[in-house]
Amino acid sequence: MAVESHDVCLARRPTRIARVGGVAMGGGHPVVVQSMTNTDTADEVATALQVAQLVRAGSEIVRITVDTQAAACAVPKIRERLLAMNLEVPLVGDFHFNGHRLLGDNPACAEALDKLRINPGNVGRGAKRDEQFAQLIDLACRYGKPVRIGVNWGSLDPVRLARTMDENARRPQPRDAVQIMREAMVMSALESAAKAEELGLPGNAIVLSCKVSSVQDLIAIYRDLAARCDYPLHLGLTEAGMGSKGIVASTAALSVLLQEGIGDTIRISLTPKPNGDRTQEVIVAQEILQTMGLRAFTPLVAACPGCGRTTSTVFQELAQDIQAHVRLRMPEWRLQYEGVENMTLAVMGCVVNGPGESKHANIGISLPGTGETPVAPVYVDGEKTVTLKGDGIAGEFKAIVDAYVARKYPRRTIT
Ligand code: SF4
Repeated sequence: MAVESHDVCLARRPTRIARVGGVAMGGGHPVVVQSMTNTDTADEVATALQVAQLVRAGSEIVRITVDTQAAACAVPKIRERLLAMNLEVPLVGDFHFNGHRLLGDNPACAEALDKLRINPGNVGRGAKRDEQFAQLIDLACRYGKPVRIGVNWGSLDPVRLARTMDENARRPQPRDAVQIMREAMVMSALESAAKAEELGLPGNAIVLSCKVSSVQDLIAIYRDLAARCDYPLHLGLTEAGMGSKGIVASTAALSVLLQEGIGDTIRISLTPKPNGDRTQEVIVAQEILQTMGLRAFTPLVAACPGCGRTTSTVFQELAQDIQAHVRLRMPEWRLQYEGVENMTLAVMGCVVNGPGESKHANIGISLPGTGETPVAPVYVDGEKTVTLKGDGIAGEFKAIVDAYVARKYPRRTIT
């Protein structure tokens, strides 16, 4: 039988609990999936539509850039459009350099947001840095908004970096440049959080992140950060890149940390293809959490890679078709059926591993390999129930899956 995700229980690092809109972050709550739009926020229609796409794909928090007066003015309108679509997702405003002014000038923007993201390296330059940081924290306190203090190595606070280098030079055995960069990032986050608390921001309204683009740096930095504070941590590999490179690098880094109980919310920073689908970053985040057994979102299809025993693409097409089918049905299933996200499916290419793998899934199908009788036995909860043949296998298998969902998962009670 399938091992269901809730059978796996990895200890989470104890943290304070931050509340972002209706979403709780940290303190053992499920790791939250978030994403970010790439539309011009001033275009309220395009941004609201992309937020809606991300939410429908499963994003539980969405961040939007707020970089101009026009963007700040658009934020409450985006909120209204989302409410008109019956979507109540927490929105995070991403501020750099002029955030103090945009929030100060646009109270409706501050009201409409659920969290502010500020970067200590980009709050302001020189003497203005501390003053503008204090203004931002004051605004967060006034409007009761939590803040993510998000350090990024591409914009590391130069004052903090210089201080770390000076401290290092006085050590009997100075550390190397990589260690200094890591230390400066951690200290930038911790000192900014301490300063925010001194300025009146409650400790449970702070989330930290320290993003870099190297997997080993990210792991080392977050281990250090996790050991030194109890704020919830936002995990993400910055500038992860495109396609498989971005997915693999993000998965490698985040899996190690999540396995150690580090990380309370994740975002996968994938570069989409031009005009590509932004929701891919949400699906990858969900799949990381689900394949690790930390959360379940959508039934996943196990499929064999195929080999010389399969001379057609039938089983690949069926695996793709079934995964698309469950993703399509999931928004409706999620509302109707309880626990359906834990269902496992298998689509296998031949008799070698097909029946065995199929028996381990809730529902599995073993397609005929080269030279095998052209029939496809279906296994339900480990038992062979029917053998499909002919041209309608895909449709019949989907009907079996739909009937199983309706039968197996209790109907949700609508409160
Ligand atoms: S199940 Fe069959 S077709 Fe698939 S990889 Fe194994 S031997 Fe090849």
